[in-house]
Amino acid sequence: MKAPPFTYHRPPTLDEALALLAEHGDDAKVLAGGQSLIPLMALRLGRPDHVVDIGAIRELDTITAGDDGLRIGALVRHARAERSDDVAAAAPLVHEALPWVGHRAIRSQGTVVGSIAHADPAAEMPAVCLAAGATIEARSTAGTRTIDAADFFDGYLTTTLQPDELLTSVQFPTWPSHAVGSVVEVARRHGDYALVGLVTKLEINGDAVTDAALSFFGAASTPVRVAEAEQSLVGGPATAERFDAAAAIVSDALSPAADIHATSAYRKHLAGVLTRRGLARAADKIGVAA
Ligand SMILES: Cc1cc2nc3c(=O)[nH]c(=O)nc-3n(C[C@H](O)[C@H](O)[C@H](O)COP(=O)(O)OP(=O)(O)OC[C@H]3O[C@@H](n4cnc5c(N)ncnc54)[C@H](O)[C@@H]3O)c2cc1C
Repeated sequence: MKAPPFTYHRPPTLDEALALLAEHGDDAKVLAGGQSLIPLMALRLGRPDHVVDIGAIRELDTITAGDDGLRIGALVRHARAERSDDVAAAAPLVHEALPWVGHRAIRSQGTVVGSIAHADPAAEMPAVCLAAGATIEARSTAGTRTIDAADFFDGYLTTTLQPDELLTSVQFPTWPSHAVGSVVEVARRHGDYALVGLVTKLEINGDAVTDAALSFFGAASTPVRVAEAEQSLVGGPATAERFDAAAAIVSDALSPAADIHATSAYRKHLAGVLTRRGLARAADKIGVAA
């Protein structure tokens, strides 16, 4: 099937893109890499009258590393971020997640920020944003808004972004020197969306875990952290017994939906398995064998 008719815009500047969104509001959609929007339109699950392609706005195609962390602009494609030394050094969770995002051909067109805007609950990048404490910058003709990732994802493919707003970048705070992380998932085939996945961040000082983030994807209608399991890890050593205890809390706490790919019970089981695996993989990076 082909998309229904629409008016295509390719504004050369950010101001012109924002003016188009202000004019057309709910009737317009931003086009970044098109890897999700175009299939949705072809399936007639999305019917925007106006498509605003941001591909000519070169100022959005930037990766900036500084003292306050790393900023990835809205036109940076997955493939470029995957190859970036700045991303690998300053946002290691992004670097580790990227090879899991679809296939190489999709990553050559899709954008990091587009993945966040699309808000698929089974996608890697929204869960990375939650685990890393990222902030997202939204612009409209009315001004600029900075949104914590924790306040951005609102439901299945739904965010708190307003129809006249455009995401310009995502910022990851400086990665703490004593932090380690991992990205693990189970999918039917590599490149498929995950049945369940987990982004882990652990801060370990001396023998003790001082902070923990367990951010799941494919386990709810948005990416989700399990605070009770995170708290169970803090204040003690990174041991296999404590990872098992956190895994049990996770399996108990999550209520994933069933679909044609997996039952809810299977996803709960996977979340527990991935908790142990993700924590062990993170701890192993600083030689803590759990
Ligand atoms: C076969 C296949 C497998 C895939 N597997 C995975 C996977 O395993 N994991 C994964 O994470 N993704 C996967 N994807 C999706 C891929 O990562 C997309 O690139 C991504 O979801 C959207 O990025 P995009 O730049 O293509 O956005 P687009 O398709 O251009 O846009 C997607 C949505 O976000 C909005 N949007 C995009 N950019 C902005 C912006 N700057 N401001 C406001 N709104 C914006 C659009 O209006 C649209 O609603 C897969 C896609 C395909 C086709």
